[in-house]
Amino acid sequence: MIDLNDDVILANNMRSRAYVKYTPYTVGAVLTTRNGKKYTGCNIQNNGIQSYCAERVAFLKAISEGEFLFDRIVIMGGPKGKPAEKCLPCGYCRQFISEFVDKDFKVYTVYDNKVEEYTFEELLPYSFKLD
Ligand code: ZN
Repeated sequence: MIDLNDDVILANNMRSRAYVKYTPYTVGAVLTTRNGKKYTGCNIQNNGIQSYCAERVAFLKAISEGEFLFDRIVIMGGPKGKPAEKCLPCGYCRQFISEFVDKDFKVYTVYDNKVEEYTFEELLPYSFKLD
């Protein structure tokens, strides 16, 4: 498996930037492009309208900088002030991300000193096929 140490440190640090005024759950994400550039994200809640998950924030930052070729995303999330727990993209994020990745895009969730790897295809419902 590839070395994810830098991504794990960054993702964990990003949890502290989460804006979680309404639900105390913090998530950090690190999105890496195929040429090795990294874009970070944290969840940003909002009262009354759609909140932004860490994964989407990372994608929005990258896409707005002209990046469209992605290799992987590392996600760490859990209750505020507590260790990370298993945390994967929500359905809304999966649909959003599907616009920009292929089925082999890797999704990692890191918790309890372990790394779980998924291909994006594994996270999609059976009815949803990517080329
Ligand atoms: Zn989400």
